[in-house]
Amino acid sequence: MSSLPFSSIREFIRFVEHCIRHPYRPVSYSSLGKLIRELYSIAYTVFPDRSLSFYVRSVVRCFFVDEISEGHYIVRGLREFGDHYPTYHVFYFPRERRYRCECQLRLYGYVRRICTHIGAVAIYRRVIQDVDIANRFFKWCELVRKSVQLPC
Ligand SMILES: [Zn+2]
Repeated sequence: MSSLPFSSIREFIRFVEHCIRHPYRPVSYSSLGKLIRELYSIAYTVFPDRSLSFYVRSVVRCFFVDEISEGHYIVRGLREFGDHYPTYHVFYFPRERRYRCECQLRLYGYVRRICTHIGAVAIYRRVIQDVDIANRFFKWCELVRKSVQLPC
């Protein structure tokens, strides 16, 4: 691909929202559109009956997940989603099959709600178990990250 698909994170968020809100409408990057709809379907399977915003945020965020060691992930903070920190650490505890995110620990002690940092990691963990989707995902991940140019 010669040019990058998005000029800002806002544009990428709008694209993801469009793909999820209108599952059958054609989009400019059809293979990315297909991938995003698959990621949404994964998110829906893991966390059914959440709000549209939960799915949009989780899917957008999963493009900004890095696994730094077994069960330990870093999710990029996005100001567009109200994040105050540049990164959030998410941990997965396989024995309890539970996630914890740093954002749940701040200010008022531990909060049990599922945040969209966790939503993103849950999608990511499913994606890497499937070679076909994983290959397409990492290809687009690189392009999306390159094109939105988040500050360091
Ligand atoms: Zn969080």
